[in-house]
Amino acid sequence: MAHVITGLCLRDNGCLDVCPVECISPGEPVEQWPTYYIDPYSCIDCGACVPECPYSAIFPDHSVPAAYTARGGELINAAGQADHYEGRNHYGKPVRLETTRVLAAGEVINLQESILANAKFFK
Ligand code: SF4
Ligand code: SF4
Repeated sequence: MAHVITGLCLRDNGCLDVCPVECISPGEPVEQWPTYYIDPYSCIDCGACVPECPYSAIFPDHSVPAAYTARGGELINAAGQADHYEGRNHYGKPVRLETTRVLAAGEVINLQESILANAKFFK
């Protein structure tokens, strides 16, 4: 069991400081690993990171949506997406990403691909 950061993550950084076992890492290089990742071998499933995420990107691994229905306007952040995003993180620092795409209202996407990405990142 572990929690998983999905492609809804826009590198806000808010979850990083609340993790009691420091198992959350920013992906680097960003082009290849565009979100943050949770080490599935160290996560103790405390859930403290979930309410810290302004994009509701974090789920327990058993409830990552296989069919996430977009509200419309939110971004998916994943290698291979080509839209440009500029924003600010939890600390007001600039975030720039070239790996995003705006989701259309009602669009259905599989967020479970992020489970594999998290596992690969910590291999
Ligand atoms: S708080 Fe959310 S958006 Fe920010 S790094 Fe964590 S998972 Fe990503
Ligand atoms: S569920 Fe708890 S231990 Fe796991 S990543 Fe989130 S804050 Fe860290």
